[in-house]
Amino acid sequence: TAASLLLIIAFPIPPINLREELEPGKSSCASRRHCHKSSSSYHKPPSPYLLSVLRDYEQRHKRCEPLTKSFNRSFFQVSSSPVGDDDDCSYVVFTRPTNGLGNRMLSMSSAFLYALLTNRVLLVDFGPDMTHLFSEPVPNSTWLFPEDSRFGNRIYGSKNNNNNHTAVLANNSSSFLHVNLGYGYDDYDKLFYSNEVQDGLQKVSWLILKSDQYFVPYLFLMSGFRAKLDRMFPDKETVFHHLGRYLFTPSDQAWGLIARFYDAYLANADERIGLQIRVLDTKASPTALVLKQVLRCAQKEAQILPPLATKQNETATKKLASKKTSYNKAVLVASLSSEFYVELKDMFWKRASASTGSDGEVAVGFHQASHEEVQRSNDGSHNMMAWVDIYLLSLCDVLVTSGWSTFGYVAQGLGGLRPWILQIPDTKYGGGETLWGNACRRAVSMEPCFHFPPSYDGNKVGVRVDGEEGGGSPSVVHCEDVGGGLKLV
Ligand code: GDP
Repeated sequence: TAASLLLIIAFPIPPINLREELEPGKSSCASRRHCHKSSSSYHKPPSPYLLSVLRDYEQRHKRCEPLTKSFNRSFFQVSSSPVGDDDDCSYVVFTRPTNGLGNRMLSMSSAFLYALLTNRVLLVDFGPDMTHLFSEPVPNSTWLFPEDSRFGNRIYGSKNNNNNHTAVLANNSSSFLHVNLGYGYDDYDKLFYSNEVQDGLQKVSWLILKSDQYFVPYLFLMSGFRAKLDRMFPDKETVFHHLGRYLFTPSDQAWGLIARFYDAYLANADERIGLQIRVLDTKASPTALVLKQVLRCAQKEAQILPPLATKQNETATKKLASKKTSYNKAVLVASLSSEFYVELKDMFWKRASASTGSDGEVAVGFHQASHEEVQRSNDGSHNMMAWVDIYLLSLCDVLVTSGWSTFGYVAQGLGGLRPWILQIPDTKYGGGETLWGNACRRAVSMEPCFHFPPSYDGNKVGVRVDGEEGGGSPSVVHCEDVGGGLKLV
């Protein structure tokens, strides 16, 4: 078809994709929804066990998807058999999120992993600002929670307070339970992470989840889940890589935007570099200071951009300029603002790069797909631009991401890349001074960071953590950019 031809041109390297593994013989580029380019990045295939878990999931999802008999039975509580009965369906519903797209995608992938571990079906209640971004993950099926208010009223109307967890502990099961695992959750909410509560939750058919966190690393610290997780992911670094690529395939509309941009600006370069610059406080982190930091990282520390010619080496540069450019770098700048793109483009255009090679100059082209200026996460077209930027970043060969940014985490995970994590300088904390003494630092794994894990005060939340004080869990470590955070390696 014309669509598949377009993608073959746009993404000439054959994609590796879970869909391909799940449906052998299907060309990955048979349609847009099946296409993921695998860049020069890390791409270990999924384990056979993960594939079998996903195959089972797809069967379950098809049997239990919205408006099927099983769905209605479960929703209207006709049956109250415990979760896990063959005929019964139980769910985790990812509800109307706040926060940006990166946070949402990380949290959804965590909810999906939780669904895989507990034999639930993941449904999403997106609201209008997200429905058009992704293709359905399970073919010929839907993960969208019904829009009909009959259903919405029932799940949102069932909202009780946090003491619900205590009810679960007391074996007092209800069919609907609201679970808050988002930023700012309290000690009751954190009880979710105790094995005892998990046992109780097995009796609850509908978990209505609100979260903006990548809580996957903590699931690895829970003894009830660990054995299954180890079998699913022998390589811990690839959890989001595989789950994210399974769940999040761009919709046709998103593919169009991604493919056209990629083809026009990135495809022909020898090397694609993604620069993701996320400035949270523009007053505390003025553009000039951030720019300086970006250059320090990209030119000196990561050495992915060439130094620029100075007065001293101008003569050598003039000679080089007469030669043909030997190497082409395309830099995708992802930022809410256009300032970094404009400055960098000018800088590398007006001054020659001081290439030390004898073959000619390195040509560096800068490109920006969008500059939305301010975050508007409840706006559909704004979120589309965010998704396009995230996806384009994931197609790069090298990434510089901004510390703390879930936007960058998603890009690195989908792309299978260990990024250079940039520390955005902040004048409130001494400006140019950075945590590590460097402008950036290479990530130890491509996994996202769980920013706000429950505290290690096991007594308070009833959680026994094997990670720090306990038996040791070498696959869960603190994040490079967020000291209290946890990530898989
Ligand atoms: P985080 O705040 O960096 O962790 O990332 P989120 O994705 O959760 O929230 C930031 C939101 O701001 C994004 O979802 C976008 O809506 C917007 N945004 C931030 N940086 C960019 C960017 O580089 N490009 C685009 N298109 N939007 C961005």
